Amino acid sequence: MALYVQKFGGTSVGSVERIKAVADKVKRFRDDGHQVVVVVSAMSGETNRLIEMAGLINEEPTPREMDMLVSTGEQVTCSLLAMALHKLGVAATSYTGAQVGIQTDSAHTKARIQRIETDDIREDLGDGQVVVVAGFQGVDEEGNITTLGRGGSDTTGVALAAALNADECQIYTDVDGVYTTDPRVCTKARRLESITVEEMLELASLGSKVLQIRAVEFAGKYNVPLRVLSSFEDGPGTLIVADSDEEEDSMEEPLISGIAFTANEAKFTLLNTPDVPGVASRILGPIADANIEVDMIVQNVAPAGDYTDFTFTVAKGDYKQTMKILQELVIPDLGGGDLRGDDNIAKVSLVGVGMRSHAGVASKMFRTLAEENINIRMVSTSEIKISVVIDEKQMELAVRALHKAFGLDKDSVESE
Ligand code: ASP
Ligand code: MG
Repeated sequence: MALYVQKFGGTSVGSVERIKAVADKVKRFRDDGHQVVVVVSAMSGETNRLIEMAGLINEEPTPREMDMLVSTGEQVTCSLLAMALHKLGVAATSYTGAQVGIQTDSAHTKARIQRIETDDIREDLGDGQVVVVAGFQGVDEEGNITTLGRGGSDTTGVALAAALNADECQIYTDVDGVYTTDPRVCTKARRLESITVEEMLELASLGSKVLQIRAVEFAGKYNVPLRVLSSFEDGPGTLIVADSDEEEDSMEEPLISGIAFTANEAKFTLLNTPDVPGVASRILGPIADANIEVDMIVQNVAPAGDYTDFTFTVAKGDYKQTMKILQELVIPDLGGGDLRGDDNIAKVSLVGVGMRSHAGVASKMFRTLAEENINIRMVSTSEIKISVVIDEKQMELAVRALHKAFGLDKDSVESE
């Protein structure tokens, strides 16, 4: 007998029919003798619908009232799922986050879970009940309903799994696992059997929308075995493991686990800026003050020693504002400088813990891109990631070429 926490996302509970299908799935686990805690999202589109309605009444609703409002979406699905389970003869009770003892801080709309009372859940499980919990929400010390940020039901699932010491937290969604890259761009993308938390965090922060980042961090911190799988078809999904030890024992580590990419960046270069202490902070300070996040930063060594080039990237949506700040504040402050901006760029990143123990990943990446005539504009590296900035037009070509070169293609023999 195992204890599973199973989280079903918005599309998985998007209609009455789908809620019934979830009940069927949960029943199968019960029939096999397992204990099950289910966490549900609101029906797909529901949270957005509620937020829009609020906006029609008041452009600046208080965060507390927003939480009162948006937490209702999950309450609908958890009660409906309990009813569907009853209909199948499965004992089940639904609870809101507050009822089930999910204590959070008071940061409305982005609250953090502080503690979970598990006694009542354990009692219900002991009585043979399926416990159905409304995801995405909790309660603060004063008894106010709070929510955990968009996509927060993943975090509810992982946090409950950690608190209950569950055997596995299963995240059921509309894809059948985590892929080597986006299958819409590369038809040869493959589902990964497993991936480490670290790798998943890199891929998630780069735009893979499978899991809420905070939920992955939580799983790593509390060592919760996490599995992403499809609610529409049976399959093993992808296991996200806390560290690579387990993986290393069982298989030859691939060099690269996945390729992330985004066209959502813009690049600025300041040529001929004075090469003196404080310049980097005079460039980036006003940008930080405007709450604009800077991603990659490169500063060149100046051959003559007096001047240098400074390049950095921001999100595409921040392009105009950043340009304005550079023109109106930074350049006058530096007493000149030649500014170039480009918002037709893309960032492509190779991610893999295998990089730690293998040399030559970067050179192979550069060779592959060169063979496709793709010019590299910027490079940055970390222990388990190499990112390049290239022309946006060449992004998909780069992803496909790298996917093939690093042996990730579906039909390629896995050796290298
Ligand atoms: N319903 C919430 C949202 O749409 C939480 C979730 O689905 O995880 O963000
Ligand atoms: Mg989600």
